Amino acid sequence: MVKLRFMGGTHEVGRNAVLLDTGEANLLLDYGVKIGEKPQFPGHIRARDLDGILVSHAHLDHSGGVPQFYLGEGKPFFATSVTTEVMRVLLRDMIKLSGYWLPFEYIEFEEMLRQRRDLGYGQPVKLKNVEFKLANAGHIPGSAMIELNTGGKRVLYTGDLNTGTTRLVHGAKIPRQRLDAVVIESTYASTDHPDRGELEVSFVEAIKEVLRSEGKVLVPAFAVGRSQEMLSVMNAQKLKARMVIDGMARAVNQIYLGHPDFLRTPKTFVNIVSSTREMTGWRDRRQAVRRSDVIVAPSGMLQGGTAMFYMERLALNERNAVFLVSFQVPGTRGARLLETGFFTIKEMDVEVKAQVRHFDFSSHSGKTGLQAFLRGLKGKPDVYVIHGEPENCEALAQWARDELDLNATAPNEGDEFTV
Ligand SMILES: [Zn+2]
Ligand SMILES: [Zn+2]
Repeated sequence: MVKLRFMGGTHEVGRNAVLLDTGEANLLLDYGVKIGEKPQFPGHIRARDLDGILVSHAHLDHSGGVPQFYLGEGKPFFATSVTTEVMRVLLRDMIKLSGYWLPFEYIEFEEMLRQRRDLGYGQPVKLKNVEFKLANAGHIPGSAMIELNTGGKRVLYTGDLNTGTTRLVHGAKIPRQRLDAVVIESTYASTDHPDRGELEVSFVEAIKEVLRSEGKVLVPAFAVGRSQEMLSVMNAQKLKARMVIDGMARAVNQIYLGHPDFLRTPKTFVNIVSSTREMTGWRDRRQAVRRSDVIVAPSGMLQGGTAMFYMERLALNERNAVFLVSFQVPGTRGARLLETGFFTIKEMDVEVKAQVRHFDFSSHSGKTGLQAFLRGLKGKPDVYVIHGEPENCEALAQWARDELDLNATAPNEGDEFTV
């Protein structure tokens, strides 16, 4: 008997958490945080009731709540080494920014590090009556799907999933084994992304055009995964330009360099990092505004970070461009800029003169990819759809029922199912 309890990330993107109860062992699959004015966590469970915690990847909506299980005695913590190292950077930053609201401090993260069990893809682990292993999820370097086997029942937890290959990582492969249940994300269950190759070409062409008229391009990008992907895309498309990178992406670059096994083309990545200037202070930044061509800086949705400084300097000149490369959550400054052309600079609403465009460089499978993944699974598994806007969770569950004749549902928070 296996039970799945959905503790968070149901009908929403943020604070993912699923509890797998095998009768003998309780394993927590992810324990994320939803960042907002006040951070929100998944449902509560006591550390002493857990036997282990597995984290699919470092993004905070999957990992941000984990330290709270290390206030006292710690249970083993399983993830790829690169995931744990990137968590170190992201959690330190989160604690700095919203420590007041958090039920833990950095010291709990350090306790977690003492309990870490680094796993490579495919490396089997046995814990009480459950066996599990991680498999490449294709989302960011080190991201993993979790395959669990207990009492003859097989469960797959996809985490964030990308079956398409990006510059940084190979796409996820459909597991070959028969499954009894799958927990799948649905961020883009209703949308398909543009063809990656064409998108890369049009992105780099657009940059070249700006550079030809002596403008500069700001690429606001999230530090983990997206910044590195954008540098890799520009490199692969042979863009000749002076590139700089700012923010936490610098630390993440170093982590990726230290874990080459998790990159698709590690040697190329070494060259990319060494040919990109890293901003280390305000003098650098002021110079970069004059002497560089393409600036990759956080945050991806223009909600803060050093991109704000570059916006101030670049947004009012029509020769420049702001190329957004992440999904812009409604209500963010990036979304507003795209919709209205206005941006707040020094508390003043200004009309942005620079060219503003959006390029859909996603690291999640789109609709067709998610459907093909479910279609390829063996053994008629029960399907649980999470990690999406309500309509996306429901749409993918409905599709799996109608097209694949599977038991499929989009659970609510607190729901428990027996596999
Ligand atoms: Zn993610
Ligand atoms: Zn996620």
